Amino acid sequence: MMINENTSEVFSALNVRTGVPARDYTSFRVGGPMAYFAEPSSWKEAAELLEAAKESRLPVYVIGNGSNLLVSDKGVNALFIRIGSNMSSFGFDGSILTAEAGALLSVVSKASVAAGLMGLEWASGIPGTVGGGAAMNAGAYGGELSQVLREVSFIRDGELITRKVADGDLGYRYSAFAYPNAVIVRAVMELKEDDGGAKARMDDYTARRRDKQPLEFPSAGSTFKRPVGNFAGALIEQAGLKGKRIGGAMVSPKHAGFIVNCGGASFNDVAALICFVRADVYEKFGVLLEPEVKIIE
Ligand SMILES: Cc1cc2nc3c(=O)[nH]c(=O)nc-3n(C[C@H](O)[C@H](O)[C@H](O)COP(=O)(O)OP(=O)(O)OC[C@H]3O[C@@H](n4cnc5c(N)ncnc54)[C@H](O)[C@@H]3O)c2cc1C
Repeated sequence: MMINENTSEVFSALNVRTGVPARDYTSFRVGGPMAYFAEPSSWKEAAELLEAAKESRLPVYVIGNGSNLLVSDKGVNALFIRIGSNMSSFGFDGSILTAEAGALLSVVSKASVAAGLMGLEWASGIPGTVGGGAAMNAGAYGGELSQVLREVSFIRDGELITRKVADGDLGYRYSAFAYPNAVIVRAVMELKEDDGGAKARMDDYTARRRDKQPLEFPSAGSTFKRPVGNFAGALIEQAGLKGKRIGGAMVSPKHAGFIVNCGGASFNDVAALICFVRADVYEKFGVLLEPEVKIIE
């Protein structure tokens, strides 16, 4: 796709790179060249990039740490805006944590416990950003971002908007602030004074992840959302699909809820395995699993 001269000027002024492999920026380690790839350092830069892409009718994807993404290996003709380490500062004011969207959940979680606070212990093993977490309403072990998220700042139509989080803005793996509705640049969370058990809880969750999750293989975490009244992993296991393999993609024998890349998986391998698992679980149990992983092609 051609971009016009003005778009091209803005892109070069903001160090937009071309042909960057998505596999280098996704935890699945799958994905071909992103036609344009930017890592803005401020909301203004992000807004300029959005505007410039719009001028050339170039599709845009906003991503964080790429830990919930499956990207086509044919490449994607779009501008990928990564809100990552260039926008990752954070700080505490009493029990209030303000973080730029690119800060890692694992980092702010550990820092909050070190600062004598609780409310984010469950997030220490989630490999996403604050922005990606707020877009997914990430959660684990009974916690989720909606419990602590109070305010979100995001770009919409070139403006920076700050809004208090209201009832209904966040639900199970749902957020009103997820791209393309909004580009999250900052979040404010309200934590609580540590009851003395935060560090122990965090360590327990870390140990449980190490024991139960196939962290030794690239993946995007849980492949499917939890169906009402059930667990995706349990259904997949009962269907006898642990270890089921298509090319380099495999249903983890350690945790059936994870599809892992066990070496050189292509986009098609993973996509075909997702389809296979959905069809098989539906046939055996009448439950249609919905992917939690976001697919970009
Ligand atoms: C080993 C492993 C364990 C995991 N465990 C958990 C878990 O326990 N609980 C859980 O909930 N998830 C888990 N995940 C999935 C993933 O880490 C979360 O979904 C996380 O919130 C994604 O954040 P990210 O920054 O990587 O977002 P990405 O994967 O980059 O993006 C995910 C979605 O968020 C949108 N998005 C990202 N940044 C922004 C932004 N700034 N503004 C607007 N939209 C944005 C993207 O457009 C995309 O739709 C796990 C993943 C792995 C690999």
